[in-house]
Amino acid sequence: MSLIPDDVIEQVREAADIVGIIGEHVELKRTGADFRAPCPFHGGTHRNFAVIPRKGMYYCFVCHAGGDVFTFFMKKLGMDYPTAVREVARRAGITIPERGPTGPDPREPLYSAVAAAADWFARQLRESPEAQVARDYLTTRHLDLETVQPLGLGYAPRSKAFLDAMKGLGVRDEVLLEAGLLARREDGTLAPRFRGRLLFPIHDVRARVVGFGGRILGEEEPKYLNSSDTPIFHKGKLLYNLHVAKHAMRKAERAILVEGYFDVLRLSLAGIEEVVAPLGTGLTSEQAQLVKRHAPHVILLYDSDEPGLRATFRAGDELLREGLRVSVATLPPGEDPDTLGQKKGAAGLEEVLKDAVDVLERKIQILDRKGFFGTLPGRRRALDRLLPTIRAAKDPITRELYISRAAEAAGVRKDVLERETGNATRETAKLSTSPVSGVAFPALPSSAEKALLLLMLEGEPWKSRVVEAVDREELEFPPYRAVFESVADDAVLALDDTSARAYEQLKAEGLGHRDPNEMYERAVNWLEARRLERQLEQLDDQLPFESPERQASLIAEKRRVFDELRKRYPRYKIAKRRRGAPGT
Ligand SMILES: [Zn+2]
Repeated sequence: MSLIPDDVIEQVREAADIVGIIGEHVELKRTGADFRAPCPFHGGTHRNFAVIPRKGMYYCFVCHAGGDVFTFFMKKLGMDYPTAVREVARRAGITIPERGPTGPDPREPLYSAVAAAADWFARQLRESPEAQVARDYLTTRHLDLETVQPLGLGYAPRSKAFLDAMKGLGVRDEVLLEAGLLARREDGTLAPRFRGRLLFPIHDVRARVVGFGGRILGEEEPKYLNSSDTPIFHKGKLLYNLHVAKHAMRKAERAILVEGYFDVLRLSLAGIEEVVAPLGTGLTSEQAQLVKRHAPHVILLYDSDEPGLRATFRAGDELLREGLRVSVATLPPGEDPDTLGQKKGAAGLEEVLKDAVDVLERKIQILDRKGFFGTLPGRRRALDRLLPTIRAAKDPITRELYISRAAEAAGVRKDVLERETGNATRETAKLSTSPVSGVAFPALPSSAEKALLLLMLEGEPWKSRVVEAVDREELEFPPYRAVFESVADDAVLALDDTSARAYEQLKAEGLGHRDPNEMYERAVNWLEARRLERQLEQLDDQLPFESPERQASLIAEKRRVFDELRKRYPRYKIAKRRRGAPGT
């Protein structure tokens, strides 16, 4: 529908220097990771206007103007959206194909209506006396107004004030109906869809508000209500916070999937940006595909109670079906990501994420804890629970590893399990007879660890080069580490079942047409960057407890490690480094 393809808009946004562009209109001063200036919109003299490069957005704490680099041009210079994109593209040196003969996007009035509503709802949350209940509610969740304002949270009053306000702005009822913001009652009268709710604006991937998720402030049902599906809002095809998280997802090469809006808020306030949530329903395949466009690995961070676990494994299967790597992080009993974040902060959250285990492994842990593997019928039932996850795994290597692991855990022969999963000899045979052509492998292996093993298995000189460059402890995936050790020591026959399968699969995959030099370079750099990042983290942990003299020398050490890291990743944004975020 739109004139400029989404991926081009994405490319432009990624390339845009928001600080440079806004800096042409106001004098920005750095404060920490952000920049501040007097607001160019309401024309104040104090530095209430913030540019937040890591989120690609700006926000004024006085007049509440906010948005991304495109909306800045739209609001400041009165451009329409395509013109703003073209202007930013021009500055970033990106060529956009010329405008075709098509007219304007017919959905434009819906976007405008939802944007006008979002502004109005946000103002109610700040100012309306009735919204005190919402402000109090935020306080009970340890969120202050100042913190949530840039995120666009709003309040929908119980009255019909919304109708009058939109009328005053010239937004027609029909448009509001189509945008899912009004409902027609049986008697034909119109009523606002959201009443007495705290609203979370939901953005599309272009960062335009397209709908809302509303939490009731009172005892009514449902607790959460979304905009109804409209031409611009499809709840199964959107993820909350994706418009912000996608940049971090690319850099961190992972996505963290949580259940609720507040979980997203808490993680992102703790500085963990690569977090998204489905909109109050189970994860759909479309949403899994959306995640896959930005990261190869997903960590599920759901509640650890029974319903939470069920949702975890359902989402896990959906993600495996898209070929993603899936891990599960386990929260302490009774905690959700929000409460844990409040109590333990970023460190506590990172701790839990660090201990995430593969989704099948997590299933096995739980079944084991419940005693399933102790009896023959129990083992049968355990296998029945593992099979959907094994079947869901689309990536052939993952699937092989899963079959081996499940066979091992349940004490059954692997070929029996292979038959049950329908894997039989079809796919394995294809792998061993035509290693590369039969299966669509990505151009580069999904991880540096795998790349190094593929190189080692090519024989010399690669084996020696890898063994020399890489410490075996650097390999984190246990079967891969076992393969590394056994190949390095020429002791392949000593591999256990799972590792032996990993070995066979790697052998079968081979290098194909990939350039070994490039693979080697990238993989070694990646591991080295990961090691340097850990070193930085240790230095950060140490710093606060040292004497001033010692601190000075630690800071010098930090700078040295930073420089080293920069060399590994010349384009790496130092401002945005965190555990597991080596970027590419
Ligand atoms: Zn302002």
